[in-house]
Amino acid sequence: MLNFKNSPVTVQSMLNVIASDVDGNIKQALALEAAGCDILRVAVPALKDTKLIPALKSVLKIPLVADIHFSAHIAVKCAELGVDKIRINPGNIGDKTAVKRVADACKTAAIPIRIGVNSGSVPKDSLLKYGGATSDALVEAALLNVSQLEECNFRDIVISVKSSNVKTMIEANRKLFKMADYPLHLGVTEAGTYNIGLIKSACGIGSLLTDGIGNTIRVSLTDDPLREVEAGIDILKALGQRGGINLISCPTCGRTQIDIVKIANEIEAAVKDIPKNLTVAVMGCVVNGPGEASNADLGIAGGKGFAVLFKKGQEVRRIDEKDIVNEILNEISLM
Ligand code: SF4
Repeated sequence: MLNFKNSPVTVQSMLNVIASDVDGNIKQALALEAAGCDILRVAVPALKDTKLIPALKSVLKIPLVADIHFSAHIAVKCAELGVDKIRINPGNIGDKTAVKRVADACKTAAIPIRIGVNSGSVPKDSLLKYGGATSDALVEAALLNVSQLEECNFRDIVISVKSSNVKTMIEANRKLFKMADYPLHLGVTEAGTYNIGLIKSACGIGSLLTDGIGNTIRVSLTDDPLREVEAGIDILKALGQRGGINLISCPTCGRTQIDIVKIANEIEAAVKDIPKNLTVAVMGCVVNGPGEASNADLGIAGGKGFAVLFKKGQEVRRIDEKDIVNEILNEISLM
């Protein structure tokens, strides 16, 4: 196992094309990889769907995780077919013998197992004991599953405890972080549609990452998985854990005399894939702009029909409003 404590946090997403459509899965997988997804998960609901594993492995450079429920046999088959990690819920994979079959197959293949516990998979006795899928119930379920694998002498384990309740998810991971020395995969499950899902995920994942908790993340959205990847990368960028251009822009006010919203959006789209670690400020006026963005490497502060270009808070020159985006991109290319 890699030393996970010193490894950068990685962004994960999951394919949502129907498992029987191999070509569709390949197409989506390649798009997600190109968008910056670090680890990709695929559901393998039936034995016939294990054909997805060699098909995806033959085109992907990033690791592939097989998501398995209810069948040790499918999990073993995926391990044999060269998948890079198995995600199971030992609670529904079968009895001790079934768990041991999966553990032995993963040990032979030298791949980890992620134990994925969420509110819906907490055992009944834990639910009764704690009065529902509380953080303590999630942690107890996860640790029980960990002990099942450890009894099989298997320790290449990743744990996730997810809840659709943001506070529960945060509490559960904080407790687990103190109680178990295994990498943690973070996510708010069933987080919802794009806007609210983004906010819940940023609150939950962001809080934990700020505390130094978490090794892989998934922003779970009822939307295109490409947006999950973008959101995951943006959370890491916002916390300074992923490189690239950090765009800061003012909210505009009655002093603004140029179209800052349009300019900021155009610059954001244009710099999205530039791998330079720079902070670029787009500010509405010279009254507060350069001062508020004095830590920016580069920026503009709007006037009327023009903007002042500044670097580290120092004015460099004036630019016509129509040339702002191109001038900023040119300056970035020289830095
Ligand atoms: S930078 Fe200027 S325009 Fe933007 S919010 Fe601040 S005062 Fe208003």
